Amino acid sequence: MSKNWYPVINYENCIECGACFNKCSHGVYKKEGERPVVVYPEGCVDGCRGCQKLCPSGAIEYVGDTGGKDNCSCGCCC
Ligand code: SF4
Ligand code: SF4
Repeated sequence: MSKNWYPVINYENCIECGACFNKCSHGVYKKEGERPVVVYPEGCVDGCRGCQKLCPSGAIEYVGDTGGKDNCSCGCCC
């Protein structure tokens, strides 16, 4: 777990499909209406791109992303 890696949603691009919320099993997201909100960044697994991979509108980026990192090893997401 790391606070140095967690998702940020660009709401200008988000279409509120719910894929990120449904994907993440670490409690990072909650829904406010149909809108996903990052409420528990500490739960995000360092290097995981599970929700970003499913986002149909490219609305998810990561704090701490310096490019190329995709090393989730927890087995839940990628
Ligand atoms: S990157 Fe993985 S652990 Fe982090 S919020 Fe997305 S699905 Fe959850
Ligand atoms: S997967 Fe992308 S478009 Fe869908 S709710 Fe999440 S951020 Fe928005």
